Amino acid sequence: MSRANTPSKGVDTKIVVLGRPGVGKSATVVRFLTRRFIWEYDPTLEFTYRHQTIIDDETASMEILDTAGHQEDTINREGHVRWGEGFLLMYSVTDRKSYEDIITIKNYLDEIKKARNVSMVIIANKCDLDHMRTVSTDEGERLSQELACAFYELSACRGDDNIEEAFHELFREVRRR
Ligand code: GDP
Ligand code: MG
Repeated sequence: MSRANTPSKGVDTKIVVLGRPGVGKSATVVRFLTRRFIWEYDPTLEFTYRHQTIIDDETASMEILDTAGHQEDTINREGHVRWGEGFLLMYSVTDRKSYEDIITIKNYLDEIKKARNVSMVIIANKCDLDHMRTVSTDEGERLSQELACAFYELSACRGDDNIEEAFHELFREVRRR
């Protein structure tokens, strides 16, 4: 374990949200931070939020980078991955391609971070749209087992409790390293 990568008290834990455009990254981040749902959020906007909360009875500070654009053509992508300590990989249960992208993103993380055990969680969003579902819960669970990370199926729109859990668990995962 490298000390340089170990976040110390008072230093923000850097979290990067990745996933295909339209899966609900911005909606989920905004929901986590404000408990509100924004229906239309500028899809080209990339923003870093600062957040402070209490996790496991301790003050937890994080910076959350909500990325935008296609994974393939983001010039900044490598910079984002180098910057980040924990990664929230998101797909939508209504978009099969976004599910298939998760493995590609994970491989990219491994390549840039040169580590097999990059801190990450997987979120399957939009599960309120059950009638439009093209990815089953089982498939999501199987994928996260394969990639050895936590898995949360949720809806940013409904504002499920496990949105907070997903961010907090990722924070813990980074701090454990
Ligand atoms: P991003 O490109 O990944 O940042 O995705 P956005 O957050 O901009 O969301 C893309 C679209 O999906 C918007 O029209 C949102 O209103 C919609 N959306 C996001 N999350 C949910 C959800 O949980 N349920 C439903 N029904 N729509 C969602
Ligand atoms: Mg967005």
